[in-house]
Amino acid sequence: MKIGVLSLQGDFDAHAKRLAQLGADPVEVRYGEQLDRVQGLVLPGGESTTNLILLEEEGLWCPLHSFAAEKPILGTCAGAILLAREVENPSQPSLAAIDMRIERNAYGRQSDSSIRVVEPEPMFARRASGDALEAVFIRAPIIRSVGPSVDVLLRDAGNPILVEQGRHLAATFHAELTDDTRLHELFLGKVKSGHR
Ligand code: GLN
Repeated sequence: MKIGVLSLQGDFDAHAKRLAQLGADPVEVRYGEQLDRVQGLVLPGGESTTNLILLEEEGLWCPLHSFAAEKPILGTCAGAILLAREVENPSQPSLAAIDMRIERNAYGRQSDSSIRVVEPEPMFARRASGDALEAVFIRAPIIRSVGPSVDVLLRDAGNPILVEQGRHLAATFHAELTDDTRLHELFLGKVKSGHR
């Protein structure tokens, strides 16, 4: 199963390694045509503003919109920001693939990076496992609100940190930086099963 990893900037390598570890065939995506050859796509963490500039420069913005309309995307951190319907602090363009409002760099300077242990919501427990999960936050955004078609799979301090809408998943933490493979397994399961 070929899974693209947007590889313009950020920690794409860790995602590619995790996907390979789980038996998928990761493809580093740098050009629009490469999207035709993958069944799912990971948008990694990094800097969403830099990614936006590079996406525009490489002519990937339109192909990415078309891809999102058809195939599953997993966005982590800056990738989650790209998937949101509305971005704050400041406002910036996004794919609007998930009905959520997200605030960039929302933890402030004091705690801009942290590792926190979270207890899965029932829906995550059912589909992955109920074991606690270590979530790595690096200058992370906070999902401030979600629309009625969005399911919250994980929360930290009441805020959604993993959400799902239809074929797409967005996490505000870096699941590729711990040994916990459940998020990528969940995503690969969606790709395999025709998105749900
Ligand atoms: N602070 C970054 C942004 O707003 C996201 C950080 C990350 O991806 N770790 O784009």
